[in-house]
Amino acid sequence: MKKNVPLLSLNVPVVPYEFQNAKNFDTHMSTTIPTPLPQANIPKHPSEEQAEFIRHWNTKLAASEPEEILRWAVDVYASKLTMATALGNSGCVILSILAKLKTKIPIFNLDTGYQFPETLELLEQINSKYGLDVCRKTPELSVEEYESQNGGAVYRTDTNRCCYERKIQLLEQIAPHYDAWISGLRRDQSPTRANTPVVGWDAKFGLVKIAPLAFWTGKQVWSKIIAESIPYNKLLDQGYTSIGCAPCTRQTLPGEDERAGRWSGQAKTECGLHLVNQSLSSSEL
Ligand code: SF4
Repeated sequence: MKKNVPLLSLNVPVVPYEFQNAKNFDTHMSTTIPTPLPQANIPKHPSEEQAEFIRHWNTKLAASEPEEILRWAVDVYASKLTMATALGNSGCVILSILAKLKTKIPIFNLDTGYQFPETLELLEQINSKYGLDVCRKTPELSVEEYESQNGGAVYRTDTNRCCYERKIQLLEQIAPHYDAWISGLRRDQSPTRANTPVVGWDAKFGLVKIAPLAFWTGKQVWSKIIAESIPYNKLLDQGYTSIGCAPCTRQTLPGEDERAGRWSGQAKTECGLHLVNQSLSSSEL
């Protein structure tokens, strides 16, 4: 972290060397991710000093361009900054900007084993075009092992449990080694994301959460993708507007919000990474 920035002491362990080098941040959880901290050790609320810092920068950066927000995040958090991406449109735009900033923060895709082949192809395309090392973090059990231990596909009977065991647990192991993470959340994506702050506090993972595109619209994202030939998921040309795991994603209909095709027919709208009641906006800090 740079010395001239008003930083906070977050009392989390120093990032081990292998995590500071994106090329070593590989897909083998059991060998590269240290034992997770007990959930009780994850701070649910920031300290007063942290809260003040978050409020200040959330206000100051609200009207800033994504480049400026990301440059700030990289300057402030350096090796304690990370990003998880499902390679949606917003995520791809952010990755293109991070590449321009020439930062080597660890970036990962939480690979449940149920993603579309098109998503995995996109990951390769992004890495190759931008010289990035977005890596796939996979659960300890393969899909075959997981389904065999559970008598079939868990997503058919309990999507919350499946999301937790195939995705959220991975981030719970990774999060304690960082101070902040970047997300591609935008306010216009769905009613549940309508209050997304640019800089907020993620109470679930005990991290500062930075959403550089919070105030961008889907149209702005597409304009940048087209103008700069940023690779995007080809399923978006086939009627999908938000893409997660194949079994839980459908094409959307005209008039539906961008995320209506996720867990269609269920009350569930988020996998658990971005639950609104676990993210504190500046007014709640
Ligand atoms: S989106 Fe569906 S398949 Fe993917 S982890 Fe969640 S429940 Fe499982």
